[in-house]
Parts: sequence; C-alpha cells; structure tokens
Amino acid sequence: MDVPSRMDTGDRGSEGEEGQRGFFGLIGSRTGKPRGDAAANLPTREALLLLRNYEESGQGWFWSTDAKGRLTYITDSVARLMGRTGGGLLGTAFTDLFLPVDSQGERQRTLPFLLTRQSKFDELPLRSAFEGDDRWWAVSGRPQFDDAGRFTGYRGSGTDITAQRRSAEDASRLALYDSLTGLANRFNISKKLDATLAAFSQQQRSCAIMLLDLDRFKQVNDTLGHPAGDALLKQVAERLLRIVGDREMVSRLGGDEFQIILPDVEDRGKLGDIASDIIAGLSQPYSVEGSRCIIGASVGVAIAPFDGLSSDDLVRNADLALYAAKGNGRGRFAFYSSELHQAAEDRRALEEDLRDALTRGEIELCYQPVVNSRSDMVTGVEALIRWTHRDRGVISPILFIPIAEEANLIWELGEWVLRKACADAARWPGDMRVAVNVSPVQFANEDLPRIVAQALDAAGLAPDRLELEITESVFLGDTAETNRMFEALKDLGVRLALDDFGTGYSSLGYLQSAPFDKIKIDQSFVRDATIPGSRNGAIIAAIVALAEALDMETTAEGIESLDQLELVRKLNVSHVQGYVYSKPVPQAELLEHTAGSWRIQPAGPARQRNDRYSLFRKVGAIHGNHRYAVVIRNLSTTGALIEGILDVPVGTRFVIDFGEGQLVTATVRRSMRHQQGIEFEQTMVSDGNGGLCTRSRVSPYLIAAATQQTSDLALPAFTTTNDWNAA
Ligand code: C2E
Ligand code: MG
Ligand code: MG
Repeated sequence: MDVPSRMDTGDRGSEGEEGQRGFFGLIGSRTGKPRGDAAANLPTREALLLLRNYEESGQGWFWSTDAKGRLTYITDSVARLMGRTGGGLLGTAFTDLFLPVDSQGERQRTLPFLLTRQSKFDELPLRSAFEGDDRWWAVSGRPQFDDAGRFTGYRGSGTDITAQRRSAEDASRLALYDSLTGLANRFNISKKLDATLAAFSQQQRSCAIMLLDLDRFKQVNDTLGHPAGDALLKQVAERLLRIVGDREMVSRLGGDEFQIILPDVEDRGKLGDIASDIIAGLSQPYSVEGSRCIIGASVGVAIAPFDGLSSDDLVRNADLALYAAKGNGRGRFAFYSSELHQAAEDRRALEEDLRDALTRGEIELCYQPVVNSRSDMVTGVEALIRWTHRDRGVISPILFIPIAEEANLIWELGEWVLRKACADAARWPGDMRVAVNVSPVQFANEDLPRIVAQALDAAGLAPDRLELEITESVFLGDTAETNRMFEALKDLGVRLALDDFGTGYSSLGYLQSAPFDKIKIDQSFVRDATIPGSRNGAIIAAIVALAEALDMETTAEGIESLDQLELVRKLNVSHVQGYVYSKPVPQAELLEHTAGSWRIQPAGPARQRNDRYSLFRKVGAIHGNHRYAVVIRNLSTTGALIEGILDVPVGTRFVIDFGEGQLVTATVRRSMRHQQGIEFEQTMVSDGNGGLCTRSRVSPYLIAAATQQTSDLALPAFTTTNDWNAA
C-alpha cells in the first residue's frame, strides 16, 4: 500500500462534523477521532483498500501538500493523465497543475490566494495546465495542522468535471450560435453590435451593417421540402463567410435573413461592391440533394453614425433599405436614406391604389415594335403595361409589377393584359405578332394555359401570333412542374421567348432543353458590350451561335444609339427592339402603321453617352460663406449640370451639398450664363437603384465640431436666378 505516511498527520478533526464528501470522512475518522470511535468505523486496512479501489475507479483522486504547497501525494491515475506518475509529480507546486486563468478569465488568483490564506475550499473548478490534457477538475482541499496548531499543508480530493463543463459550453454555444449554420445568432450579433457601436461612438469610428434577405427561398422550401431548404441555408452561410471573411461578424437572424457587421467601413463605393459580391455569389446555382436550384438576395445597408447611432436605429434603417431594395426588383442593394421612410409610405399607398386601377380604367397597354435587324421590317410588337395614376401620373411597371406580385394582384392584372393584347392584335391587319410579358408568379399557376387559351379564343387570334415572354427566374422552382408548364403552353401552339437574358443567372444549360423560340438579350448586356474592353460582345456572339443552332431567334433589347445597332448587326442578332427604331406606342398609332408592311428607318444618337441621369434635384452649392440653392439638371459619376446662379467664372470651386452629409467638391468647367457644367473631385457611386450617391459622407461628429467654428471666408456673392434662393 503506497498511501504516504503524511496521510497520518493529524488535523483539527473538524471535517467529520462538517460532513466531508466521499472518502474524506473516512480519512478523518481514521486519524482525527478518538480511538474509541474506530470500532464504529471500518478497520484501517479495509479503509485503505476501499480508498485504493476508489482511486482506481477513476471517479476521484486525492492529493496532499506540505506547508509550502508542494505535492506530497497525488493519485497515480490522475498524475498519468497529466503525463507523469504520482511519484514524478511529488515536490511540484500544487498550483502548477492548473492554469492560472479559468475559461471566463476570472478568479485568476483564487487557488494561490486560498492556499496562502490556509482556507478550505470545495469543488473549485480548475483547468489542467498540462498540454494535450484539456480537462477540468473540481478540486476540494482542507488545511492540516499539527497538534501544536501549526499549518502542515493541505489534503484534498478532486473529480473530473470535463464532461459537465463541455455540455455547459455547448449550451452557451447554442445560446449564441445558430445550430443550423453555425453562424452567430440574433442575440449574439445584437450584443456585438451594441458593444461595437458603444465603443466606436467614443472613438468616432464608423460601422456599417448589412441586412440580407434571400429572394425566392420560400419557393425552394415549398417545392423541395424543408430538409432541402436547410441544406441550402448552410450553403448560403458558407458562401457568405467566404465573401465576408470574418466569421464572427456574420449572423443568421432566423429564416432566410442574415446580418453582417462591417466595422470601420463607410465608403459606399466599397460597401456597394461588397453588397454586389454577396448578391452575385448567392445567386450562383446551388446543388441541393441532387436538385439544382437558384435563389437571389437583396441587401439593405445602414452606416453608423450617419444613419443611426444606436443598434436599434441602425437595424431599423437597414431594414427599410432592404425593403426598398426588394421593392426595386430584388437582387439589389440599397443604402438607407431618410427619403426611404416616405418611399415605404408611398409603396403602401400605391398598393392600395393598384387594387382599383383596372376598374378605374387607369391601366392601358402600349406596343413597342420588334424589328428585323437586316431588313428594318417590323415583325411584331411587345405589349407593355402602362399605369396612369390619377394624381401621380405615369408609374413605371418596374415599380408596380413587383407590388402587384407581392399583393396578389398580378394574376388579375396579367389576365387582363393577355385578353387585351390578344383582342388588340386580332384587329391588326397582316400577321404581326404580339409578345406579352408573363410574371413568374403567373407561370407558377397551373391555370395559366387555360387562361391563355381563353384569351386566344375570345379574340379569335391564331396561337402562333402570341408570344409569351418569360424570365429566367421560372427555372428556380421544381423542374418537373416547370417542364409540364412548358409542354402545356407549347401544346396550345403559342411561342415562347426568354426575356432579359444576361441579367439573372444566365445559364446556357436550360436553353437546350426549354422550348424557346426566341432569346431576348437584355439592354444592360448590350450597353456594356460597346464599352472598350468589355467581353460582352464575345458572349453575345456565343448566344447568337447557340440560338441559331437551336433554331431560335435573338432580339437585342433597349438599343438606343446607332453604334449599338451597328454592333448587334455585326454580331448577327436577328431582331432589335429599342428607341433607335421606336418607343412603345399606343394602339391607335399602331393601327396607322400596320396598314401595309411596316418598315422603320433607324434614328438616334451616333453614340451611347456616358450614363447621365436627367433629373431635377435641388441641392446646395456652397462658395465661401454663401450657400446657393441650385438645381441639378443632369448628373453623372464625374460631374453635373447645375442651374440657379448667373455668370460663374470657369474654374470656380464649389462644395455641392446633396443633403444628409453628402458633400462633394466641384470645379466649374463650362459656364453658360445660368447653367454651369461642373466636375466633381470625388466620383459618385451607384446607390444600387440606378441613382448615384457620394462615396462617403461628412460625419455628424465633424459637423458638430464644425458648427462651433465660424467661417471667416468672405468671397463675393454671385447673382442667383432661383426664387427659392431669396427665401
Ligand atoms: P421588358 O419586358 O424587358 O420590356 C422592355 C423594357 O425596355 C420596356 O420598359 C421598354 O419600354 C424599355 N425599352 C425598350 N426600348 C428601350 C430603349 O431603347 N431604351 C430604354 N431605356 N428602354 C427601352 P417598360 O415598359 O418600362 O417595362 C419594364 C418592364 O416591366 C418590362 O421589361 C417587363 O419586365 C415589365 N412589364 C411591362 N409590362 C408588363 C406586363 O404586362 N406584365 C408583366 N408581368 N410585366 C410587364
Ligand atoms: Mg419583355
Ligand atoms: Mg426585357
């Protein structure tokens, strides 16, 4: 028996009364109690055997130290776990067995402190200091004293609590991380955002957040089932991490919503790039349980301190931006701006008004010619819906079609368009075709072939004169159902066109199997093709070659300038639709033309201009200590045309204030009495919705500091032409 003799050292005999756990009572009874009690206890030899069995069972272990805290005994089995034998550890400081810091980084000096105070301790959680031994112990100890009351060291026990510890860590992991994707959960990220914003506002640093929502995720979940939906979310999380990089800053809020924190980023050019990368990355096809599926993503961005200082404000505003991004057609990003509150209101009002727009007779169709690019002959027209709102005038279908889709109005609207277009087409002389846009929401409804057949019947129109334009998003759903719909429509004898090719996922794969008669190459794709260095030309050539091989026609959309027309002709695109031939026209005008065979002479600008946004936007132009109200007439990334000040010399520098801290310095390059062409010193960037914004904004911190200083600049004032300058 190798229980060391030190175990015999007397103690104050108090453990017995205090109810020591396990074998402590036994040890105590053996040493500290009057001999007379021994009869009531187990015989010594028996006790030692039991002790040994207990040690060998691995359930607990014993230790003792001398007065200097050096080990005088430790159970062999536990010493081996620490890579030593019991004997090998003797003389080692007991405190060296454990890491000085526990997992929370607290109670750093607890054990040494207790030992020097000669205090007793119970079940103190301690972490093994030995490499490769990631173990936690609950350690108890009792100080020992000799008969003269002198401290002689410690005796104690320990148990392995690693398993409990791990499950506690798992539980706290569960509380902080999303169990499906392993990303931070809502609770975790909101804590993090709170902490970041609090720290950053002291340091006057900025912090952006992105809220992200998957487009059409519900469709995948509904058609492929929840396990597939879960598998998809995992892949989305992986892609997000790859793009964003920082694991701790990406979270899943629940469902198909994600949030990303981007500390120290306020450059909206950079944020726009990140958002675009995310959207493009998540829009690539997924392989889920053997099925291929495609979803999209929309992103809303808000930046502290500009768009809010508290996490509540920032998240609410990012959410509003997300809502705007979705409203603008999904697959987009949007930055928060205070105008969005009004926009969200407007959208709700529009939805209300759209409900009775049809019965009020506010909805009409107009028709845009589709022209053979070689002969300039019109071969058909595309029906385009128009809504003239009683107060707000013409509203773009780009705005109201998504509202109709969301508000379940698209079915009613779509049926009306089909019937009206067929009826109108039946009145045209000759056999000119009519193309009708079909929303993916309509395409997903199994009633569509019946509605189409009824529209053709009612109008008495030959089916091959009707062409249905479908976008790539119809391939997102269940492949079998999509194929059935294609078959049913083909059985009716109508033609099918793939619209907006080049904007979505643009996979050539399904072109081979889907029975399209035509591919429409999107406007943005053709526009880019004229930019030097663009590879779109080569891609268009490939699309055309493929379409020809599959016996399909091609239409280039949105051709405005003669150089674009020349390019698509050179690339053998068979048809062209665009302002270079004709804008959409009302039915009445169409009837005039179709009398004979209709040829249009192309006309338009020789070249496509650097995207200029024509607008009427009141902004401030600051010069010295004067602030002029001017109107921006058109705007590009590099400059603008302003109106409102008279005779400004070329070379004058202004600070243009676009509002909300958006300041750009600009120099007058051309001056034409009441108009000036100005060039920006910092280029503007896309706001994700076809508009422009400044890269960075003047921080509210700076504005607060600046208002405390007064400008001593006194440059002469210019004469103004705007009434509101007087105000
Ligand atoms: P889309 O089907 O790609 O239609 C072509 C759009 O490009 C039309 O816009 C047309 O006016 C415009 N466009 C044509 N040539 C040019 C050009 O040279 N330059 C420019 N800048 N634009 C040109 P619109 O009429 O505003 O329609 C927008 C979209 O709204 C359509 O895109 C289509 O997706 C949707 N839409 C229109 N009518 C209907 C409809 O009846 N039902 C459904 N579901 N969607 C519709
Ligand atoms: Mg179309
Ligand atoms: Mg299109």
